[in-house]
Amino acid sequence: MKQSVMTIVGNWKMNGLADSLGGLVSDLIDGLQEGPAATEVVLCPPATLIERVARAVEGHRVAVGGQDCHAQASGAFTGDVSAPMLADAGASWVILGHSERRQAHGESDADVRAKVEAALKAGLKPIVCIGETLAEREAGRAVEVVASLSDDLNDAAFAVAYEPVWAIGTGQTPTLDQIAEIHTAVRRAIVKRLGQGAGATPILYGGSVNAANAGDILGVEGVDGALVGGASLKAPDFLAIIAAGEAARVAVTGQQ
Ligand code: PEP
Repeated sequence: MKQSVMTIVGNWKMNGLADSLGGLVSDLIDGLQEGPAATEVVLCPPATLIERVARAVEGHRVAVGGQDCHAQASGAFTGDVSAPMLADAGASWVILGHSERRQAHGESDADVRAKVEAALKAGLKPIVCIGETLAEREAGRAVEVVASLSDDLNDAAFAVAYEPVWAIGTGQTPTLDQIAEIHTAVRRAIVKRLGQGAGATPILYGGSVNAANAGDILGVEGVDGALVGGASLKAPDFLAIIAAGEAARVAVTGQQ
């Protein structure tokens, strides 16, 4: 089953300067004017741009998110940004546990759990990233790895992004059957852990989604949207992904 709203999230990673507002953001807003209304579009620029992007998208159906937050609300944590700070700057979502943070900053599941709690407390909607490494997939452990994440969740007010680590920024994607298998396993795990409320938690796919493959991936049963890295930096590509998501939603739900 698909959710009645598709969620398409752009993760700009460490890309974007004030110039990006003139081209990328304004082109996106223009492209969305005639576009589908039943898609939740979220832009996650670097922290330095959150306030400016939030101002630029005001009045349009685009939300803004952070790419990480600290588990504490304030304190002696040089260089970090807290969840209330993101909310204060205009964010309503935050990506947490991205594999680039787990790998480059050593974030553990426990760290991610603490961040999820901090985000919820600040009124942000966390997008919790999970995904197996290539070694874990080759060892037949992909389902086990993604399902274990549910042990760290206490609240259903979040979105999950299934992002196989080996697919991020590589141009490689799992087969549609592999994506369906993992999304089914994640849904089962979060409903088991959190109850029926988690039946409405969006489960996004992320990892080398582009304008060409978005239609197939977003059409997979159980895929409620996409977390998009590289392709979210090009307005025509990101708009094509949003349109593909909308077409997939209409095809499955029959609702315009
Ligand atoms: C990501 O950064 O979450 C991501 C999925 O990147 P890409 O789309 O570039 O693979």
